[in-house]
Amino acid sequence: MAHLEVDNIRKVFDTPDGKEVAVEGVSFEADDGEFVTLVGPSGCGKTTTLRCIAGLETPTSGKIRLDGRDITELPPNKRDISLMFQSIALYPHMTVRENIAYPLKVDGVSKEKRNGPATEAAQTMQIEDMLDKMPGDLSGGQQQRAALARTVVQDPGVFLMDEPLSDLDAKLKAETRKEIQRIHEKLNTPVVYVTHDQEEAMTMSDYIAVMNDGEIEQFDSPNDIFYRPNNLFVGQFIGQHGMNVAEAEVVRSDSDVSVAVDGYEPDLRLENPENLSEGQVTLGFRPENTLLETDATEGIPGVVELIETFGEEAVVTVDIDRSEPLLAVIDSNRDLSEGADVRAQIGRYAHVFDEETGDVLT
Ligand code: ATP
Repeated sequence: MAHLEVDNIRKVFDTPDGKEVAVEGVSFEADDGEFVTLVGPSGCGKTTTLRCIAGLETPTSGKIRLDGRDITELPPNKRDISLMFQSIALYPHMTVRENIAYPLKVDGVSKEKRNGPATEAAQTMQIEDMLDKMPGDLSGGQQQRAALARTVVQDPGVFLMDEPLSDLDAKLKAETRKEIQRIHEKLNTPVVYVTHDQEEAMTMSDYIAVMNDGEIEQFDSPNDIFYRPNNLFVGQFIGQHGMNVAEAEVVRSDSDVSVAVDGYEPDLRLENPENLSEGQVTLGFRPENTLLETDATEGIPGVVELIETFGEEAVVTVDIDRSEPLLAVIDSNRDLSEGADVRAQIGRYAHVFDEETGDVLT
């Protein structure tokens, strides 16, 4: 049983150009069976946070606790935490068994005592028949499973994974992703997983921490992160195509609150519209929820700039004469051509953000 607590950690690096704040006040918890993913753009502090948990970096301030015990200053091998790096290549000159047992060897476990856990880890990953083979004799998928077995062999209380799928081709990525989920369910320990790929985060996690500039912007379930973004950054980072934005104005009458984009008032189902006061806001809406009409007078006027087809769907880029174009997802069979004049209409779901801070208002 394990309970990991990251409590207000801050990490500042000294660089030739001065101080670099990599992590600023990051807190979250992960319990047994929970898969927590840190996601965010390059340089937002994901890896540094993970390295602090692993003991490869010491936070400038803040605490890391495991089952209530302060482990902030403990060396990595005394933490009961296993870290799987970006590259999960096997050592080519060692058998699969030696590869899997390698972390135990490093920990000084004798040869006789290494065999049992290595076999057990291989059984977990369903590669026990491969133990005496060389890595070169295994398929790509089997190699991945052997590398995962090497991570589980120490039977740690917490698993950390730093972009373990980033070097893999699409097929192997999908396979390994399933394997990671399977071992997570079987072993039932907390996993803290780092990726810059929001789709990976959305499909694998129980909780997602969306990071930006060293801070957590939102820590929530994938569903809440997608449907209830705290701010514009989260809305734009999460989702297959990010979120469209348009400058808009809140218009209040005695009985009604609406949001207008250049006089166009979409029929929106806003949460708590009474919280909105009159004035300029930023409206965010998803491309999947953006309709393109060719014979309507209502909507944001624009011109189809590009149509990209992905199987049944096509993503349309619409130039609306502002700095950022709009995206709309349409049925790829639809008869629409580049250069067409359209009106972009917003479906029922949209989010209203503060024009300056980007914080969600409804
Ligand atoms: P990526 O997805 O590119 O790996 P990341 O979100 O994991 O990025 P970090 O690697 O944690 O980000 O880096 C956060 C910031 O801290 C970056 O600006 C990086 O340049 C800086 N940084 C990280 N490690 C060091 C270091 N050892 N010395 C100085 N600066 C560092």
